[in-house]
Amino acid sequence: MNDTSRCAYWIGSDAAGHRCEEAAERAGHCAKHYPIALRKLQQQQERLAASAARRDAAWRARNLSRLPQWRVQLERVEAEYARRTASAVQDRAAVGGDMHVSIVRAQSRHLSDANVARVVELERLAKRLRADIARAEGSAS
Ligand SMILES: [Zn+2]
Repeated sequence: MNDTSRCAYWIGSDAAGHRCEEAAERAGHCAKHYPIALRKLQQQQERLAASAARRDAAWRARNLSRLPQWRVQLERVEAEYARRTASAVQDRAAVGGDMHVSIVRAQSRHLSDANVARVVELERLAKRLRADIARAEGSAS
């Protein structure tokens, strides 16, 4: 017999039970077992949601004290990011305006290469800090 045409509900214990003999009418279950299966699924989803909420609350309780520190870190990261992604004209000014143009170019290139990895790192840091801050602030709302 085709399994999907029969009710999927399991009656009795795991070891000694058996599958329902009725024909499946709705979402793989017979008319009697469909509402039971639906309720079980809803209860399971409620348990999952409740445990996720508990985990989130525990996370916030653990990390709320770090929120001011994260805000300071984020300010620093954003400031450094802004500095490092500033225009090439400012970079050249920082390297030294009086130097020969080829030296300036070489130094700028070196700075740019060194910058790339750090800028990527800063982006990653800022993203994580913003996410952590938003999550920690969730308790206040
Ligand atoms: Zn059934």
